[in-house]
Amino acid sequence: MDGWGREIKSLRVSVTDKCNFRCRYCMPAEGLEWLGRDEILSFEEIARIVRVLAAMGVSEIRLTGGEPLARRDLPVLVSMLAETPGVEDLSLTTNGVLLDRYAAPLVEAGLRRLNVSLDSLSHVRFAEITRRDALDRVLAGLEAAERHPELRPIKVNCVAIRGFTEEEVPALAELARRKPYVIRFIEFMPLDAEERWAGDDVLTGGEIRALIEEHWPLEEIAAKTSSTARRFRFADGAGEIGFVNPVSEPFCSSCDRIRLTADGQLRTCLFSRREWDLKAPIRDGAGDKELGELVRWAVRHKELKHRINDEGFVRASRSMSQIGG
Ligand code: SF4
Repeated sequence: MDGWGREIKSLRVSVTDKCNFRCRYCMPAEGLEWLGRDEILSFEEIARIVRVLAAMGVSEIRLTGGEPLARRDLPVLVSMLAETPGVEDLSLTTNGVLLDRYAAPLVEAGLRRLNVSLDSLSHVRFAEITRRDALDRVLAGLEAAERHPELRPIKVNCVAIRGFTEEEVPALAELARRKPYVIRFIEFMPLDAEERWAGDDVLTGGEIRALIEEHWPLEEIAAKTSSTARRFRFADGAGEIGFVNPVSEPFCSSCDRIRLTADGQLRTCLFSRREWDLKAPIRDGAGDKELGELVRWAVRHKELKHRINDEGFVRASRSMSQIGG
């Protein structure tokens, strides 16, 4: 439990800070200064932290990056975590460009849920925003995932940016009607490495919903209390759309999430300005009990909420690709 009475059930694990895309709302074209091999947690160290947390009721594990599939042998880690007592839900967030190669080994290893980032269905605009001409590979990756019925739901995450995403909405909504993908629009957050985010860049979930409803009426459906998304289905039953609105409709009051960075720092909020080092204690021989106490201490100091909309908002101490979303 955190200091506000929220139970922590979900851990997001960044397995690498590296990425093979250069999305404009995330990092500069030249990339960032990457962590060294020794700075990054080994699979054994990640699995140990997950085991200690799972014993405390943290049953949902999401693997993120950078781009998690850029970390070699990721299915090995997936199988280690899938076998961990107390881990009930294992998912992955990926940009999808390597998914066609990894979908089968990931499912075999025990992966059961998937989020694929996709901001445009136009080759030109996809390349414009990711600085990579890779739309076809991402779509092929999604189709590879589709062939595994165990891997459901398949969610597609679209970062919504004013002046760019409006044009993408009809095609992405249509994709949700045509394919077994849940399309989710995520409001742009101030986590870009170049610190160019401005409130005016945020295209809200409410605005996108209105754009969709110009074509197809939507009906809201129930979502899990701690869910970050408001869920809607098309009134004619042809698929599901979600809206993740951290800026216009913050959901911090039901937050059950903490994060582990690739270099072993525990972050109790996406917008934390402080971190708790788990790597040094592990490498100094700390026992599971000590590790558990350190985590409990950190969580007791978890932030109540983000302060994006507050006067004097101070950005997080790391950018999105260094936290892992
Ligand atoms: S901003 Fe922080 S407190 Fe709010 S939902 Fe995200 S992680 Fe939780």
